[in-house]
Amino acid sequence: MDIHKAEQAADIIRVAKYTVAFTGAGVSVESGIPPFRGENGLWNTTNPKFLDIGFFNTKPLQSWKIIKEIFYDKLLNVKPNIAHHVLAKMEKRSFLESIITQNIDHLHQEAGNRYVYELHGTYKQLVCTECSTEYDISFADLNFLPPTCYICKGILKPDIVFFNEPIPFFAKKRAFEEIAKSDVLLIIGTNAEVLPAAEFPMRAKERGAKIIEINIKESHFTRTITDLFIHAKATEAMKKIGEFLYL
Ligand SMILES: [Zn+2]
Repeated sequence: MDIHKAEQAADIIRVAKYTVAFTGAGVSVESGIPPFRGENGLWNTTNPKFLDIGFFNTKPLQSWKIIKEIFYDKLLNVKPNIAHHVLAKMEKRSFLESIITQNIDHLHQEAGNRYVYELHGTYKQLVCTECSTEYDISFADLNFLPPTCYICKGILKPDIVFFNEPIPFFAKKRAFEEIAKSDVLLIIGTNAEVLPAAEFPMRAKERGAKIIEINIKESHFTRTITDLFIHAKATEAMKKIGEFLYL
């Protein structure tokens, strides 16, 4: 990694009025969360149909068996890494206003960030398909599948956006509002190829924001709208930026 670029990023962030981070799988891989897409992606080994809302609604037990294996048997004890921790310290020290994330692991909140907009929900929470009551995962008993609602006995579903389900309205609305206010957008670990994610960097750029991008591979933003590209892992780059910000 080019250390000088991390220093430049810190300089930009230090004088910014409203920095927003936009994060994806690359932030969480080093916490042990597998990416969904791309090589080594979850969808290479697991049939994505189990996470299709139509399939879930007709065969919830079949869907839940796979979901439990993927998320609840392996990914409940994952911990935030240094990239999450630096972002949390940045918020605390007013170097960061909010995070828009495509990740569903809730690790930004667990690291201490308070203003996080989860575009795809989180598997750390369940929601009743009948009465919409939400449950923290610690209240659910996954020994009996599918888990059901304590209030109405409806089937509970992980509070993530399934295939063929819309992005939650509130998160999307707030994400666009944050983008509109930003003067620096810090893209970390995502190539944001799907909508609405793909739109955020464009919108920010149109409004004159500086775009800092941290990725291990160039994205379609790198040579078009990115002002400062840091070619590095999220943990490596954020650790250095944190040091230059004296966090
Ligand atoms: Zn219910």
